[in-house]
Amino acid sequence: MSACLLGERVRYDGRDAAPATDVLARWVREGRVVSICPEVAGGLPVPRPAAEIQGGSGVDVLAGKATVARKDGSDVSAQFLSGAQAALDVAQANGVRMAILKARSPSCGKGEIHDGTFSKVRKPGDGVTAALLAQHGIAVFTDEELERAAEHLATLETI
Ligand code: SF4
Repeated sequence: MSACLLGERVRYDGRDAAPATDVLARWVREGRVVSICPEVAGGLPVPRPAAEIQGGSGVDVLAGKATVARKDGSDVSAQFLSGAQAALDVAQANGVRMAILKARSPSCGKGEIHDGTFSKVRKPGDGVTAALLAQHGIAVFTDEELERAAEHLATLETI
């Protein structure tokens, strides 16, 4: 799970992104959750300048066909790739089969991310970590899909 969803102040702006629901805390109490902030795991500080994926989406960054850059043009792709690998390592070490990640983040977003112009415009695509987890068979949901995530969890428990 994205660490910022559990109240950890690891976002680029030094804030958290805990949703107004106790379902995540319940899953933590039940021992179901491992958490990570891929950007911090990749070596970036808190706070840090915002970054967006330019020239594609997370899957393109993984393929070396797009970059993650800050507004000043500095390339932080390496840190995002390192963080994504760290998240995959943690997931695989813990037998994780599903992930709940923060919507629209260039690391954690799924289905929709910002378009790389720093103008709040969105485009289809996944963040770098979300794309890597999905490539390895982990079902990814955002914090805006908690109902669907709970349904998927129930399905996994019957397998
Ligand atoms: Fe949250 Fe993911 Fe951004 Fe870290 S990288 S602050 S976990 S959305």
